[in-house]
Order: sequence, then structure tokens, then C-alpha cells
Amino acid sequence: MADSLCEPETSPLDDPTVGPLPTEGIDPQRLPLPEETQPLKIMWRYVVVLSAVHIVALLAFLPYLFTWSGLIAGIAGHFLFGMMGITIGYHRLLTHRGFTCPKWLEHSLAILGMCNLQDSPARWVAIHRMHHQHSDHQPDPHSPLVNFLWGHVGWVVCRHKSLDRTSHYERYVRDLLRDPFYLKLERKDGWFFVFLAHATVITLVGAVVGFIAGGGQWSEVGRYAASWYVWAVAVRTVFVLHGTWSVNSLSHVFGYRNYDTRDHSTNNWLVALLSHGEGWHNNHHAQPRSAAHGHRWWEFDMSWGVIRVLETLGLAKDVVRPKPETKSASTT
Ligand SMILES: [Zn+2]
Ligand SMILES: [Zn+2]
Repeated sequence: MADSLCEPETSPLDDPTVGPLPTEGIDPQRLPLPEETQPLKIMWRYVVVLSAVHIVALLAFLPYLFTWSGLIAGIAGHFLFGMMGITIGYHRLLTHRGFTCPKWLEHSLAILGMCNLQDSPARWVAIHRMHHQHSDHQPDPHSPLVNFLWGHVGWVVCRHKSLDRTSHYERYVRDLLRDPFYLKLERKDGWFFVFLAHATVITLVGAVVGFIAGGGQWSEVGRYAASWYVWAVAVRTVFVLHGTWSVNSLSHVFGYRNYDTRDHSTNNWLVALLSHGEGWHNNHHAQPRSAAHGHRWWEFDMSWGVIRVLETLGLAKDVVRPKPETKSASTT
């Protein structure tokens, strides 16, 4: 039973969906909105929170709020929270089980993932496993074949009824919810408080840096705290959000294909650069469990490099590598 949850139904995690695009009866360029989103209902709390973080990020254009330490903290956060939390934690580890690691490390990576305003681990994983199972077909929650904006962000703010059902979580993420750590996070939006806590800590660290850099002047303490809040929390969060969303939108529309998968996934170098290797998305759809997304020598995948380091240190085990025999399936 547990296996069926890690690998639901047609096993999107294991079976490479290599083969011609099924075009019979559907317009390959158009897809209706997922039925489970009908009638469309906006989730206003998502709109408010995501709008707020974008508005705060725009304050980065005020020269008064720029500090080098805030910028550096933001770039470091892109790697720490974005790459370690989302790319390696939420995606390659929790969703696809591309490697195993000690529980303390798995939970730590999940906590880093929660600091990116991308929902709880269980919800994120459930949505993404569903995407792999039905990519670019009904009921894929975020195919850009509906329209580009829907694939990028529209799906985030619209209610998908199946995600409100316990049966959906039973089907897609029971393996995760057996762990009380993830179950607790589903209750009372626990993951969101992790986000708020990390934002508070980063702002306080900024205040301390301001105290030191400003020789104890309170105006500098406030300016640095605000600068770190804008750059290391808001700008970084927005950057990581659009990196992840671009995998769903740009990497299903623009780019080249190494594999003839039954979806429109592409390899997109820009997205790969912004999201630490996630842009090699056609490779990923062909071999979802592989912890390496770059399959050609030029397809640089920083997250894979980090997983290799974890493996060398003995912290990552059972690392799933690309299958060489399917590499030759490249066509276009
Ligand atoms: Zn995809
Ligand atoms: Zn995936």
C-alpha cells in the first residue's frame, strides 16, 4: 500500500513517459482548465500574501534600502533556501526519492523549503506528483497549454478542489504523512509560521549587522533591518518563487528536447540557471527519479553537484542516477 503512494497508479516516479505525444482527440496546443478548478474560485489569502511579498520586494528599488550585506544575504539565501530547500529537499528528495538521507537532514531540508512561501511539503509534493502523472493532460494542475499565465502563477491562486480532499493526500503523499513531522505542518498552517519565523530571524540578524556597521546608531540598525527584510527575505523569496514557477511554465513551452516524452516538457538553460538545474525539465520528465537532471555534458546542474557532495560525505545514499540506455532516446 505504501509503495502505491510513493508511486501512484501509473507510477510517474519510476516509469519514463517516453513515447510520442498522444494527440488523438486533443488539440496539442490547447488544454482546458483542470476540471477540478471549475467553477473558478480565487484563493484570496494566497493573492494577498503573494502580492504583499512582491510589493515589499519592489522596495529594493529604493537606494536607501540597499546594503551590500543585505544583497549578499539574499544571494546566499537563494542557495540555502531555494536550492537546498526546494530543489533538493521538496523536489528531488521528498517528491521523487532520488536519494535517501538521515531523518534529521530530511527534516532540515524540508524546513529550508518552507522558507520560500511555496506551501507545505505535503501539498507541494502532492501537486508535483500529480503533475508528473498527468503532465500537459487533464488534470495536470499547472499546464501552460491552458495559457502561459495559468501555468506560471494562475494555478497557485485558484482553488483546485482535489487538493481539499483527504483522499487526494491519501493517494499521493501517504508516505510523507506517516511521518508526524509533516502531518503536524498540515494543521493550522504550521509551515507558514516557519516562514514568518525565518523572516524574523533574518531581519534581526540584519539589525545586529547594522548595529555593528553603524557604530551603534539606531537609524542604521533600522535601515539594515529593513534592507535585510527587503533583500534577503522578499526579493529572494520572489526570485525563488518565479524560478520554480518558470519550471512549470517556460520549461513546458520553450527549449529543446532530448527525450520524446508524452508531454511538452523542454530543457531550458535560462530556467536551469535560475533554479539550480531544474530547467533540464525534459530530462526530468523522461527519468523522474534520477537525482541528476542534467544528462548532457553541457547541462550544468548545481543541485546534482551538491547531492554528489552529500553522497561523498556519507549523508546521501541510494542516489538514483540517469539510465544510460534511455539517453539514446533523444530525437528533436
Ligand atoms: Zn513538468
Ligand atoms: Zn519532478
